[in-house]
Amino acid sequence: MTRVFDEHLDAGFATRAIHAGQRPDESTGAIMTPVYQTSTYVQDGLGKHRGFEYARTRNPTRDALERNLAALEGATFGHAFASGMAATDAVLKLLQAGEHVICGANVYGGTHRIMTQVFQGLGVQFTFVDTRHISQIEAAITHSTRMIYVETPTNPMMHITDLTAVADLARDRGLVVAVDNTFATPYFQRPLELGAEVVIHSTTKYLNGHSDMVGGAVLTTREDLSQRLEFIQNASGAVPGPLDCWLVLRGVKTLPLRMQQHDRSGRAIANWLEEHAAVQRVYYPGLPSHPQYELACRQMTGFGGMISFELGSLERAMTVVENTEIFALAESLGGVESLIGHPASMTHASVPQTMREEMGLSDGLIRLSVGIEDTADLMEDLDRALRAISSGA
Ligand SMILES: *Cc1c(COP(=O)(O)O)cnc(C)c1O
Repeated sequence: MTRVFDEHLDAGFATRAIHAGQRPDESTGAIMTPVYQTSTYVQDGLGKHRGFEYARTRNPTRDALERNLAALEGATFGHAFASGMAATDAVLKLLQAGEHVICGANVYGGTHRIMTQVFQGLGVQFTFVDTRHISQIEAAITHSTRMIYVETPTNPMMHITDLTAVADLARDRGLVVAVDNTFATPYFQRPLELGAEVVIHSTTKYLNGHSDMVGGAVLTTREDLSQRLEFIQNASGAVPGPLDCWLVLRGVKTLPLRMQQHDRSGRAIANWLEEHAAVQRVYYPGLPSHPQYELACRQMTGFGGMISFELGSLERAMTVVENTEIFALAESLGGVESLIGHPASMTHASVPQTMREEMGLSDGLIRLSVGIEDTADLMEDLDRALRAISSGA
């Protein structure tokens, strides 16, 4: 279990992003944490080692990343994983057969898939509810409920869950609140400060931010959960390699600057799309027209670059995704480069059609991950693609 250092914890977010969890290398003074590309560590004698025995269990580059991410989320303990799904897998392994989880109906497609197609078969029970409505969560609680799993804002409908209200509900009943904070990042939203006890990340996205690795992390304030997560991390072995840990550490150093630009362009493009004649509806928590705009302003300090919008038909959506030049047609999000996607056939293809319809995820919906290129270029690119609809291209 990697516990954060005390140093830098009082510093501002950007200072922590650059320094927390890292110290110049003791043997050389190297300012950057080395990539400890090793599987094992030579021991000084039988039973005498320096805290490192085998790299599945511990690796110094991974330790630095775990401390860094824990410091950013306001956690005490961090655990890094080989992917966001490996992080979710580890959190779900905190449960036993017969125990029950209440999960947001609108979570990441892979999260829904691992719950219903892996853990349900092992005896863990799941109820999916619209976590925008606290009453729906409350009504789903049974004597075997142990965890509430939420994502906010959700992908791709941008639904917001009131984390303070969920934490209040859970506290009285001893339930663990686990929050997937991948979309907002700790720069804009810190669930642990709002009362949650576990935060999950796909570091693949904004935290690394450069679309060049896959990784995940779990951050927690609870020592008992951290001990069990450490056990699971070592027992299951879904650990990230040291180079991937190093890439995230490097990416995080510019997280505040990147998020500011994602947010600046995100707001501008969302506002502009809302006025565009070819667009029926825009989903972005930073728009006053978002039904939960006030809640979003209360629990987030910015809204980032994730925007979804409705074009009304599959045909129109296809025309747009095939006519952008800067926005690349690809899955994933959170990188410096802008991406465009069609959730119904890409990220959410594994979600049953009826469930997609229930959540409003139609065939005419497009999702943008607005990168940090020049805002004017991005708008021009989208405008060209939207004009292709009316010209019948
Ligand atoms: C991508 C993503 C995941 C899964 O992470 P991987 O790194 O792809 O395994 C989980 N939750 C959200 C919100 C995501 O965007």
